[in-house]
Amino acid sequence: PASLGVIGGGQLGRMFIQAAQRMGFRAGVLATSDDEPAVQVADWAVIAPSDRLSALRLFAEQAEAITVEFENVSASALRWLSRTRPVRPGWKTVWVSQNRLREKSFLTRHKIPHAPWRPVRDEAELAVAIRAVGLPLILKTASSGYDGKGQVRVERAEDAGAAWSSLGQVACVAEGWVDFESEISVIVARGADGAALAFPVGFNRHRSHILDSTVMPAPVGPIVTLEAQTLALSIAQALETVGVLTVEFFVTSAGGLLVNELAPRPHNSGHLTIEAATTSQFEQQVRTLAGLPLGASDLIRPAAMVNLLGDLWADGEPDWPAALRSDPGVKLHLYGKKGASPGRKMGHLTVLDPDAETALFRAQAARRILTDSRTDGIR
Ligand code: ATP
Ligand code: MG
Ligand code: MG
Repeated sequence: PASLGVIGGGQLGRMFIQAAQRMGFRAGVLATSDDEPAVQVADWAVIAPSDRLSALRLFAEQAEAITVEFENVSASALRWLSRTRPVRPGWKTVWVSQNRLREKSFLTRHKIPHAPWRPVRDEAELAVAIRAVGLPLILKTASSGYDGKGQVRVERAEDAGAAWSSLGQVACVAEGWVDFESEISVIVARGADGAALAFPVGFNRHRSHILDSTVMPAPVGPIVTLEAQTLALSIAQALETVGVLTVEFFVTSAGGLLVNELAPRPHNSGHLTIEAATTSQFEQQVRTLAGLPLGASDLIRPAAMVNLLGDLWADGEPDWPAALRSDPGVKLHLYGKKGASPGRKMGHLTVLDPDAETALFRAQAARRILTDSRTDGIR
């Protein structure tokens, strides 16, 4: 194909487009508004809701092969599109990973380790779930949650009803609370021929349920590393995924792994592969979409990434020159988003270092300077 298309206009779509363009493809996007990050860099764009059939038709006329950058795309629309052109990942992978009820059922059916869970679709199921998974538990809406949105922790049985109401009494899963040691993720790329490669494991720290930093490779030892990669590859195989798939895990204090959730796409924890890996997660997405062989997924050097959230803009534009001056190894990525609201992912910093934790230390130091140097100037 000469022209590749991505459904969704966010930063993941933007970085996919940039990877595609570097390899000589014309890359376009189906987005909901003109000022979304991916639209700014795309060779062509269709602006319309992704669930409108006429928009999908227009988009498909220009895209010889189609991928997604978020999971909330109509699976039946993807199925329809895949009759005439490659759609990667396919509708089945997206369909399973866009709904936690289907996702958890899939994990249970395939005996893949995960936290205890029960469906909650009415009051009776809520009562059953509390008894089955125990307390505390976490209620998550079955669809359309991200960055911890659509989730509440429930401590006491008598609070469960109010918690479910606060989520709008929509279909949910109740999940047993996991007292995890750490969180890791594995990104997998799988070609149409079944050849698959896992990236090194990412070690993820969250703040207020939003990813704050990733270190790669994860300091979890060879056994957990191999187990996580093996599980992620077997999930991609079971879903017959062609494209990129991410698996998030909890590492329990006993060193066991539980799958948290799946994402049918590149992942925030893989942004550092742009500089740190032989082939980035976005280039793998391009390669699987275009039917090219996978690139090597090994790390050139250990690395760390810290997210830049809208909170950093609270007192105005962060002091980019100061941060870049403080450490010439810091790589700045900004997504071109217009409004910097708290918790919104605006960009990230990546640092490569022979020692992964030192990379994190340096990235965090640079992020601190973004706001510290500015207030110093004002004071
Ligand atoms: P993402 O932005 O990764 O898509 P999300 O909104 O889909 O996030 P989850 O990944 O399910 O939500 O949860 C977000 C974070 O909340 C997890 O990374 C973890 O830190 C915490 N969390 C979620 N489920 C549990 C659990 N069962 N026990 C303990 N902590 C949890
Ligand atoms: Mg999620
Ligand atoms: Mg998650």
